[in-house]
Amino acid sequence: MKKKYIMPVILSSALVASSFTVSTALANGQSEKTWNENAHVPVFVKEKIAEKRSSSNASNALDYLAENEKKTGLKNPKKNLQQKAVEKDDLGMTHVRFNQAVNGIPVEGAEVVVHYNEQDELVSVNGAHFPEASTSSIDTAPTVSLVKAVQTAKNAVEAPEELEYAPESEVVVYPFEEKNHLAYKVNVNFMGDQPGNWFVFVDAKSGEVIDQYNAIMHAQDIHQSVGTGVLGEQRKIHTTKIKEAKGGTTFSLSDESHEGLEGIYTLDANDGEIFTNHSASWKDEYLRPAVDAHFNSEQVYEYFHDEHDRNSLDDNGMAIISYVHYGESYNNAFWNGRYMTYGDGDGSFMVPLSAGLDVAAHEMTHGVISNSANLRYRFESGALNESFADIFGVLVDSDDWELGEDIMGPDAKEDGRVSLRSLSDPSKYPVKADYIPYGDGEGNYPSHMDEFYDLPINLDNGGVHINSSITNHAAYLIGEEIGKEKLGQIFYRALTVYLTPTSNFSEARKLIVQSAADIYGEGSAEEKATAKGFDQVGIYE
Ligand SMILES: [Zn+2]
Repeated sequence: MKKKYIMPVILSSALVASSFTVSTALANGQSEKTWNENAHVPVFVKEKIAEKRSSSNASNALDYLAENEKKTGLKNPKKNLQQKAVEKDDLGMTHVRFNQAVNGIPVEGAEVVVHYNEQDELVSVNGAHFPEASTSSIDTAPTVSLVKAVQTAKNAVEAPEELEYAPESEVVVYPFEEKNHLAYKVNVNFMGDQPGNWFVFVDAKSGEVIDQYNAIMHAQDIHQSVGTGVLGEQRKIHTTKIKEAKGGTTFSLSDESHEGLEGIYTLDANDGEIFTNHSASWKDEYLRPAVDAHFNSEQVYEYFHDEHDRNSLDDNGMAIISYVHYGESYNNAFWNGRYMTYGDGDGSFMVPLSAGLDVAAHEMTHGVISNSANLRYRFESGALNESFADIFGVLVDSDDWELGEDIMGPDAKEDGRVSLRSLSDPSKYPVKADYIPYGDGEGNYPSHMDEFYDLPINLDNGGVHINSSITNHAAYLIGEEIGKEKLGQIFYRALTVYLTPTSNFSEARKLIVQSAADIYGEGSAEEKATAKGFDQVGIYE
């Protein structure tokens, strides 16, 4: 369907992110591009850079981008980009990540990544940028005070006056609805009946709220109530033995046994304290969800450590913290940007959610994503965020392709709801009634782009838990061909090396296929299986 041109095309003035990818497949000096025909911007450029760049560093990468403005559509990169990170991966490649910036103020979500191979040759570039943000004149001096912006943000999301964490904020350029705003991006984080991890964009000139969304990442979005339940498997867990002053010992759910990891801690949401027990045997009914959370956190930590050489969610040993017994009969779990929180379930629809290893892996993967691609939690990029969380959920809890099969309560099972979502057969479960009009009428989770739900932002952040099923199903199809271990390697690489906050399905396909080619070789069976999996769900280049 998509035509390929070699000639550059005039860039769009539309206020959309221009995405592009440059990669290595061709011989020296050749290049190939795909164009987004609606926006007139390059989506994909394949190229082999003939000359060797002396070393992989930011100034080299900027030199390349400056010499290739037409190829990427990115004007004056030395002025418009600022370095964010330089990372070396285990294939020996180096990735230099930039953020587009105006007078040093970052453009929200606009990241560009330049890749070098083992020989320090620059081999590919991808990412997204907002051409208009660099060309229009934006006054980057706020006139509204930070204090006022934070108060406006708190009011907008009905946050409690007293917050556990002070809101974090930064000044950004926020391209939104045909205009580039100078804005305070305020993150307001709170617990309560309606927990929030809100991102509120307050115009730094007018003081008005431009946009807001809640990035609380739930395991799912079904809400029920009343009752409690508990599972009962035997677990081996790491705890800490504390000697008390008056004699006797206490044990706590603190695991500081992993080198380089700050620790794994499991806390009671009712009192905010780390669980303790006077015996090394944790049998009490009330403790069981805590034992599960603690055990599963370690399993997930070990998966990322052993399979991907990643040290915790931030790859820098950050503490892994879980709260259990959250809310009352709460049929949900979430990552709030800082830690995992699990409800006890209502006992009929769900049991305590920490019992699900895949649920724990899902929530912790959100932590990995926040510290890597940082996929924006709305529409397609948000669905990718959810999908990666589901995929790693079933890679860690690897005995099936179902998510949440261990946390369903007796009534749910009786109704045929034996898991939350299925990667092998998404459409066996119905979506919520409110979502049906936005789909193909069948009312089931989609497994192909033909069944995509065109949901507005106020419904599930634009379908983040719904359309995720499409890429979930692609992962299933790929995994069935090449096995779960290789699937994990490919998707992990794409997540940590290539994807950027605004990546959509089509870009993700390219970048995941590129990851397969990096690891297993151009033209390898793994690369072909990956491309085929996306073909089968209707996601093309
Ligand atoms: Zn999630």
